[in-house]
Amino acid sequence: MVSRVIPVDEFDLVIFGGTGDLARRKILPGLFRRFLSGQMPAGSRIIGAARSELDGDGYREMIAEAVAEFGGEEASNKKGLEAFLKQLEYVAIDARGEGGWADLAAIVRQDVVQAFYFSVAPSLFGDLAERLHTNKIANAQSRIVVEKPFGRDLETARELNQTLAAHFDESQIYRIDHYLGKETVQNLMAVRFGNVLFEPLWNNHYVDHIQITVAETVGVGGRGAYYDKSGAMRDMVQNHLMQLLCLIAMEPPGQFEADAVRDEKLKVIRALQSIDHHHIVRGQYDAGPDGPSYREDAENPRSFTESFIAMRCHIANWRWAGVPFYLRTGKRMKARSSEIAVVFKDLGHTIFEGDEARHRNILAIRLQPNEGIDLQVTIKEPGPGGMRLIDVPLDMTFADALGDGAEDVTDAYERLIMDVIRGNQTLFMRGDEVEAAWAWTDPLINSWEARNDVPKHYDAGSAGPEDAMMLLHRDGRKWREIKG
Ligand code: NAD
Repeated sequence: MVSRVIPVDEFDLVIFGGTGDLARRKILPGLFRRFLSGQMPAGSRIIGAARSELDGDGYREMIAEAVAEFGGEEASNKKGLEAFLKQLEYVAIDARGEGGWADLAAIVRQDVVQAFYFSVAPSLFGDLAERLHTNKIANAQSRIVVEKPFGRDLETARELNQTLAAHFDESQIYRIDHYLGKETVQNLMAVRFGNVLFEPLWNNHYVDHIQITVAETVGVGGRGAYYDKSGAMRDMVQNHLMQLLCLIAMEPPGQFEADAVRDEKLKVIRALQSIDHHHIVRGQYDAGPDGPSYREDAENPRSFTESFIAMRCHIANWRWAGVPFYLRTGKRMKARSSEIAVVFKDLGHTIFEGDEARHRNILAIRLQPNEGIDLQVTIKEPGPGGMRLIDVPLDMTFADALGDGAEDVTDAYERLIMDVIRGNQTLFMRGDEVEAAWAWTDPLINSWEARNDVPKHYDAGSAGPEDAMMLLHRDGRKWREIKG
């Protein structure tokens, strides 16, 4: 199956921070793949803008190396790479001063789609936004893309929103959460709203509970200093896990349109109840055979920052009253595995004699590895010997189900950047959503900071602290196994 490429209009994309880690690892290699699939119209340009004193050739050389290192299989397409590099330019710029702005103004066109990717520290957002206007580069149609972290609490997120709003309308601002660019996450909406099977069951009459797990095997080494000021709640829950929770729990939007979807997500965040601290488990990994402890990685022997968190949430509305949402995420866990599992209720009554086992339908949406969806159903065990029941998965791994087309499962970043060029904000967070998410997480963080809560230790390579298991055991439930 060959996937369809929808063309976009000619564009100038300026990447502030175009020499940085994110630009070299994700943004440029992703754009190269879009170029190869024919989605970058001739005449479109990518303009790197950063502090380094490079010229155009120096930048193209840097990006050729980045594509070779991070571009995957496509990197071997030398002719393609040569053609791609011809569409790249570079301007040395100082976000905080006047250097380079006149050069940028001279090359960015006003008669094509304009997008400005702020791949720099958030402390520079205000300077960039202001100088884009004083130098008459941006116009009322320009789009800006901003990265996480969007603030570290409600107050700083509000300040950032106000800074951006001083220069750009909300319809021009694209706050990236790359989880929303994942194929399966969008498929979650297709499954919910494109099938008659699921929506009638999607409520507290049929759903027992929901589990959202994002487990990573990496530690925080390398970015320990940053992470230690953040922790799993700020780094993962406030943004990625909350977004997944919203998509799974939201009411069906009236249409598949940016504000209709974002209105529904916002209602979910606002309906989240506060959590008693007995229903939050924070953890920190110990040293293991594969690496040092969290405290060594963070170079902070007295750190109380969590590298793992598990919690039980409730959404106070008619659809979800009484249904727990269990969330967990952590570093240095036993496998790299992310999934959302909708666990349906037990049958009220079984007609099969001697069937003591509890059979349950589970819809599991896997984000990684092997993106796909599987539905656990109960069937008869084949063979003679009576009616014995077993649970089997109806598995739809995209790579199997979609054949060649699945090879083109576009990376989240490149898909989202193309959405920016198209002017589609559906998969981007709106300012009020981000603020509502902080308004919910702030009191939880403040509460454990005020108590000097000490995170529980867990073995590197495990499923997290024992207390996280107890969180579900107490409710007569258990976590799904973390499998890579
Ligand atoms: P980086 O430190 O590797 O790169 C920073 C870039 O900003 C460089 O190109 C540098 O030249 C430019 N820069 C710094 N000061 C400047 C100034 N005064 N004027 C002009 N340019 C200036 O950072 P990064 O890791 O690429 O991260 C960029 C942004 O993306 C940050 O907001 C970060 O939080 C976010 N982010 C990064 C990642 C990642 O994987 N690296 C993941 C998620 C979010």
